[in-house]
Amino acid sequence: METMNAAVLEEYRRFNWKKVNQPEIADNEALVKVAFAGICGSDQHIFKGEFHPRTTIPFIPGHEFAGTIIATGPNVEKFHIGDHVAVDPIIWCGKCPACLRQHYPACSSLKLLGVDVNGGFGEYINVPEHMLYRVDKSIPIHHAALVEVLSIGFHACRRANVQKDDTVVIWGAGKVGQSILQAVRTKTTNTVIMIDILDKRLNLAKSHYPDIFTINATRENPVDRVKEITGGKGVDVAVEAVGHHVEIEGRVNPVRGCIQSIRGAGTVCVLGLGDEPLPLLMKELIWKEAKIVASRVSHGEFAEAIENLEKGTLKPDALVTDVLNPAQIQDGFMMLENEPENHLKILLKFD
Ligand SMILES: [Zn+2]
Ligand SMILES: [Zn+2]
Repeated sequence: METMNAAVLEEYRRFNWKKVNQPEIADNEALVKVAFAGICGSDQHIFKGEFHPRTTIPFIPGHEFAGTIIATGPNVEKFHIGDHVAVDPIIWCGKCPACLRQHYPACSSLKLLGVDVNGGFGEYINVPEHMLYRVDKSIPIHHAALVEVLSIGFHACRRANVQKDDTVVIWGAGKVGQSILQAVRTKTTNTVIMIDILDKRLNLAKSHYPDIFTINATRENPVDRVKEITGGKGVDVAVEAVGHHVEIEGRVNPVRGCIQSIRGAGTVCVLGLGDEPLPLLMKELIWKEAKIVASRVSHGEFAEAIENLEKGTLKPDALVTDVLNPAQIQDGFMMLENEPENHLKILLKFD
């Protein structure tokens, strides 16, 4: 059995970079040599043990990664040794009511590579052919590792049905919010507003997209400010990507803020996986006869993200604040935990 190096979460809050057995491929799988892998907010939950017992240790996380195919099983048809690939980590069952309607993100037993089974924080990984997306070699391979997080942004746009002239507000300027910003900017040239409580994150977004408006919710009432920016009309689409929100005195919670920020018959799209219920005033929604939609992972938007990378309509480097050697993975997780204002996407660079 060949061995490889991998970042193994051996206890909660403790990674070890160590030798493990290299995975073997099934007939329908390719062996991918990982080039870059991104650390996601979900990985931070796994790290802290917050996904237990869904995720148990010892475990190799990593669901945002790209690399090169170095071997293929006999039944792999469309991919070849040497191809650069991004990996869609979603494993759906195909049999539940949602899957039978081809609505895979809502699969009742949805699993993810790197969350439910070992993922891409190792030198090699076996991946079924249907989860592979080829990325042109003209695209830097570290950009290919961002396809997963960018696809989250495109999926949110699709769920919220963002149209060409829509005005959009995004609550939360973290990894997910900034990915949504990138996708939104491929859809609409109209007003886009970002809200956060960390100036550094808002400034980062603004430095790459100077035409957006930013609101620091600790200093300004975000709903009032959105109304002001849109001339009293409210936005067409409001997206909540705050996650575990912090209550700010005198402000409504982000989902209710989204409802208050949209025009009549507008759309609210929610993504944050907070653990606490949020109070909403339903008549604020009903008077507007507005829609709330939820967005989870992605659903085929890998292709759209890759196409936009190839067209040059995205700014993938705007998401990346740090590139680390995978042996430094423990430091990466501590940086994200201790200085959230200084770090967005951390990429691990293999080989
Ligand atoms: Zn992720
Ligand atoms: Zn299913």
